[in-house]
Amino acid sequence: MVRRSAFVGDSRAQSGIEARRYGVPSAMIEAATERRSAGDWRGACAAADVELFFNPETLRRRYGAVAAGAILDDLQTLAPELLRWHLPRYAHGPGRLLAGLLIPLADYGGAGTDLTLAAATPGFALDAGERIVLTLLETSSSGVRADADAGLSAVLGAVHRRYAERYDLRRYRMFWDAACAPGFRELCDADAVRGAAILRLQDEGRVVEAWTAAGFEVTLGSSHTALEEQRRLGRWLSSLPVNLPGLAQRVSDTLPAASEAVIRCGTGALVLSGFNGDGPPAVEVAAPRSVRARGVALPVIPYAVWSRPLDADLFRLGLVEPRDLHPLVGAAIADGTAERGAPNGWRYSTESGIGAQYADSVGSRTAGNAVVLVHCGVGLHRVARVGGRWQPIDHDDHASREALLQRLGGSVNPCRGAAQHLGSGRHVIDAVARFLDHGRVAEAARLLEAHADSGTAPGNFVLADGGTVGERLAVLREHTLWLRMIRAGAPPAREPLNARVAYPRYGATSLPDKWSRRKRDTRRPRKGESARLKKHR
Ligand SMILES: [Zn+2]
Repeated sequence: MVRRSAFVGDSRAQSGIEARRYGVPSAMIEAATERRSAGDWRGACAAADVELFFNPETLRRRYGAVAAGAILDDLQTLAPELLRWHLPRYAHGPGRLLAGLLIPLADYGGAGTDLTLAAATPGFALDAGERIVLTLLETSSSGVRADADAGLSAVLGAVHRRYAERYDLRRYRMFWDAACAPGFRELCDADAVRGAAILRLQDEGRVVEAWTAAGFEVTLGSSHTALEEQRRLGRWLSSLPVNLPGLAQRVSDTLPAASEAVIRCGTGALVLSGFNGDGPPAVEVAAPRSVRARGVALPVIPYAVWSRPLDADLFRLGLVEPRDLHPLVGAAIADGTAERGAPNGWRYSTESGIGAQYADSVGSRTAGNAVVLVHCGVGLHRVARVGGRWQPIDHDDHASREALLQRLGGSVNPCRGAAQHLGSGRHVIDAVARFLDHGRVAEAARLLEAHADSGTAPGNFVLADGGTVGERLAVLREHTLWLRMIRAGAPPAREPLNARVAYPRYGATSLPDKWSRRKRDTRRPRKGESARLKKHR
């Protein structure tokens, strides 16, 4: 049953579904899983477009047998495609990966040096087809060392190191380690009666009641905050996907020494207090500026700790089925094995403009044919591909009369409109564009091969933005070449390729953690960057 939730907006749900479908397709998951199962972790990384920015051959010599062994053990169970699945993404459009992130995955004590395995999303890697960088950082007491390796320096120069705390996954291995993936279920579980009641209040936008039910005292702004501003803060709070059941406990577990900590997201901040016996749990909704003005650097609560996993909500709201999810995620959420992949390998669920969803072929008239369910009038109707042609099958045949009405300016019946759209082949080109947005060249090529007519070369298809498939592929190839050069030590100095990397404005008090102790990039943001930066705050 499809329900609504105040904190899972249409845009967030839509881009989340697209990111899963086009950004981590079944073929990638299968290839990476197969290689991981065969003990080939490097092959698994290659299959998931994860680029290694360290040399596994030299680990033992540089860091000793113990550290090298621990790192290699983790790499054996690393599920690079699961990491890709869970990495933070923009909550709009095609749901591409957030640029400029550094995400700590695991720590190791080396001989004289502490090491951190981390994932990164420098702009130059994303430009090369949403590629993710996997790297190993030497984190001695003086901060992160990047002088040894030009490729690593380039990565660190293109990520927001001070946000590493926000995206920290060191205690949350279920987001990247296949062996720990079942633990994802605990984060999604709101089955207990109290948890379900809290979630229902959040869904209905009754957010203060929800936090109160979770045991928190709620303050919107300070005593001087105007009523209008309090309302605005309340609306912002209700849009946050906070995982309220068990939140206080998870914060205490993650930050055992803190009595206060902060959730930072978008344009606001939540200061949580009362942990570890220091009074009753309380939450204060504040502007980031006022949090900074306190002059105290509060520890940041990582996303993994406070945020509800989107997969859990998409499933709960009936927007995805277990087979739409990564099998490890589907199994953890749906409590069973998730069968992935539709009969055609890709689904029509969110075809633009027709509000349709893919359906398995049922009934004699549609057996063996692709079927799309279309919202038509008050119900769902079927549009099927019969004899090579898309046609509505739940309407009496008045096609000619409707065509006449349409020519005279009448509105077209949704089923007929869907059939026309699908018949034009535009949905195939749109899907190709979406795969290319996520750097999935093989899937795009396969679609074109399967659906294109023989008269047009695949590279000549024109995408919605006016460019051709061939042009997009050429750009991807160029950026991939550039990425490989940077890994080999070339300086990432070319302006157009860096255009996507957004740098934060510095100056405000930063958080005193080991990630931020480095020479700061004082470059002023370029035109257009400030808008992107807001997403990071
Ligand atoms: Zn209809």
